[in-house]
Amino acid sequence: MKTLSLIVPCYNEADVLPFFYDETSKVISTLSSEYLTELVFVDDGSKDSTLEIIKELAVRDPAVKYISFSRNFGKEAAMLAGMNYAVKSDYIGILDADLQHSPDIIPTMLDFVDKQGFDVAAARRTDRTGESKLKTTLSQSFYKIINKLSEVNISESAQDFRIMKSDVVKAIISMPENIRFSKAIFSWVGFNVKWIEHEDRERAAGQTKWSFKNLIKYALDGILGFTSTPLRFGFVTGILCGFISVIALLYGFVKNIVVADYSAVVPIILAAMFFIGAMILLCIGVIGEYLARTYTEVKGRPKYIIAQTNTRNNFYSIGE
Ligand code: UDP
Ligand code: MG
Repeated sequence: MKTLSLIVPCYNEADVLPFFYDETSKVISTLSSEYLTELVFVDDGSKDSTLEIIKELAVRDPAVKYISFSRNFGKEAAMLAGMNYAVKSDYIGILDADLQHSPDIIPTMLDFVDKQGFDVAAARRTDRTGESKLKTTLSQSFYKIINKLSEVNISESAQDFRIMKSDVVKAIISMPENIRFSKAIFSWVGFNVKWIEHEDRERAAGQTKWSFKNLIKYALDGILGFTSTPLRFGFVTGILCGFISVIALLYGFVKNIVVADYSAVVPIILAAMFFIGAMILLCIGVIGEYLARTYTEVKGRPKYIIAQTNTRNNFYSIGE
């Protein structure tokens, strides 16, 4: 028997949960009998009757598990709690409670990871219809920036909706950082990913939990967590200032020779100002460089992740 855990982060989803449960359990019942499936609801400190509804479902259906937070910790924390619990299963899936992630493609995803040798089957959005122009533009610029600056390459259309082998989940939960940005973490751990085109459906009921403020914070978490480039800003501006200082000095010097009674006081003062500026900024740049390294070390991420080896039975391991 192979085990499959489907993690469902829920924050104030009382309106949609009954629909979600009906539709998802229908899909689960179509899976072959070689799979033992459980639904792991993570109640992220909901203020409505989300937890009561999940508890009722759990009474009726032994395949329903729940984890309920003491307050709202955010979707990242909810996914992590789900993965920490479900890592014992062979396959671990994540999907939203609002039915935007169509449960219909779960059997296809499972087939890719179980039968076709992929480690992850993940949904990729096909289009962005129904989203405001501003949100689309901002989000596209965000992915451009983060992909330019950081070592990971995050596909703009990648979604959290996915099914992973337990080794992949082990790697993900071994990332010890507190401020988590799963999109980048999923990409950082690597492995063999099968992308499945998937169009987000309309939310079946209830409301989105994302506000503009949340999205800005999310973008900052991503950029600050996966790049150190902003810390190197001092170096660049320092070099620029040094350059201007030299130009000002040269300008005064040349003009002094060419023009008979020219006094080069102004260019010299300018050169001095930019020189001091350059020194200060370069020093800040040096500190930034050390800070960037400290930041990388402090995150304590695994140095490598082995996907396959014949040196041990349980082949998963992370770099010591
Ligand atoms: N969610 C959560 N904690 C939060 C916000 C959202 O667990 O603080 C869950 C939410 O219940 C849903 C999923 O994350 O299952 C995606 O949220 P939502 O549908 O509001 O986001 P959108 O689809 O609009 O990006
Ligand atoms: Mg949604």
